[in-house]
Amino acid sequence: MVIIDIRNVTPRTNGTRKETAIKKIARHHSATPTGSWEAFWPYWNKTKGWGTGGYHEIILRNGDVQLCYDPVEITNGIANHNTSTYHICVVGNGSFTDAQEKTFDERCKLAMKRFGLSAADILGHNEFSGASTSCPGIDMSMVRTRLATGNNTVADTKAPVKKEGEELEFSSGTLRKEWETFLNSKAQREIAVQAAVKAGYSEKWIKDMEEGKATDGDIVMLGLGALIRVNK
Ligand SMILES: [Zn+2]
Repeated sequence: MVIIDIRNVTPRTNGTRKETAIKKIARHHSATPTGSWEAFWPYWNKTKGWGTGGYHEIILRNGDVQLCYDPVEITNGIANHNTSTYHICVVGNGSFTDAQEKTFDERCKLAMKRFGLSAADILGHNEFSGASTSCPGIDMSMVRTRLATGNNTVADTKAPVKKEGEELEFSSGTLRKEWETFLNSKAQREIAVQAAVKAGYSEKWIKDMEEGKATDGDIVMLGLGALIRVNK
């Protein structure tokens, strides 16, 4: 991750606050598939008429960070909440790269420490009162759990147990997507294995899953097996 410091070139007209006024960190998405300060600024300035940008930090698709403003600067992330909020934007439209999530956790933890905040103080844009938006396009309870438990790698959160060269075959793209989402969730994998054991499969699968030995193919087999047996 590279920090691109653009603080000395970003315009500002909002004025400043004391750093101790910061009580919340907001996560945003850009609602665009790609982008950067350079891409967003003309819209903010010319269309919205802002003299200050929207965020203190912008996390680019490759996980690099554009550092836009010092914390004392008041930016334009959320109307009526800007004086007490530090804004971090993750570029994307409800879908973010692993590199971005890793960077977000790193940057967010640093900011939490600096401002004396806890994971409960990290909110998505739409969790602020009066906000009506799909921003930040991610389940914030998952993000907060990640921040609270210190599991700051994406691997820890998603716990994918995919082996080299392993490819599953699905009859349709939709089905593949559904299974991929399922397999990327540690909780879902656990549910599948527990259901399978309950349905009569060997208890050794629980141990295998815990030790990361159960492949995606195994989990699909167990999940389907449990379903078939339950439905009988
Ligand atoms: Zn937002």
